[in-house]
Amino acid sequence: MEKALLILVSFVFGTIIGSFLNVVIYRLPRGRSVAKPAFSFCPSCGSPVKWYDNIPILSYLVLRGRCRNCSSPISKRYPFVELLTGFASAFSFLKTGISVDYFFVFGFLSLLIAITFIDIDFRIIPDQLNLAGFIMGAVYTFFRQDFSIIDGLIGSFAGAGFLWAVAYFYLRFRGIEGLGMGDVKMMAFIGMYLGWFGALFTIFLGSFIGAAAGITGAYLSKSSEKGRYEIPFGPFLAAASVVYMFFGEEIKQWYLGG
Ligand SMILES: [Zn+2]
Repeated sequence: MEKALLILVSFVFGTIIGSFLNVVIYRLPRGRSVAKPAFSFCPSCGSPVKWYDNIPILSYLVLRGRCRNCSSPISKRYPFVELLTGFASAFSFLKTGISVDYFFVFGFLSLLIAITFIDIDFRIIPDQLNLAGFIMGAVYTFFRQDFSIIDGLIGSFAGAGFLWAVAYFYLRFRGIEGLGMGDVKMMAFIGMYLGWFGALFTIFLGSFIGAAAGITGAYLSKSSEKGRYEIPFGPFLAAASVVYMFFGEEIKQWYLGG
């Protein structure tokens, strides 16, 4: 009973952070301050969003997805990100319980959510987010029992180095710039959290999902779009790293035959 309440509290807390992530996703790639102004504005009419119209998920439902002032539609993206972050928080709590680990695991997932949507919108991954994740992962090592800062650094070098090498050879031998440096830096962040095995797992699974999605996407867009179908890689790395974050121990044991 008490646990159910805590899960609910962590979910609600997650939706509030999700509301902030919406601000980050919108403002950071546009070069605007994430902190100021504190209130959001309707992108259509420019009127400030009142606090009571800014309650995660609920306000969207009450307003039926339209701006109170000008009635122009509000993107479904906003409540979706809030819901997703709510679940991220609840699952982080289920993994860690009441412990300092919760904040680091949920922080990991929150950054990946912001990275995913910015990469989808702009095909970039802001350095600030990768750096924040790298530092958070490094601080986390001091709270972890069986994972030192050395393990984190090796993970960063393995992840970023391997992806950089792939990008280099791709460019060198095929003349295609398949990967951005944002993806490489993202692997430094993920490696700091997951170690070398987790980082390499993330690249392999991310590539696999990405290739599957790329083939599907190319097939679906065949008739309408000319040219090569291009998909951002960041969201697939993010998805794969989340799989490892939650099932890493099992995956590692299965792989190593333990
Ligand atoms: Zn409006």
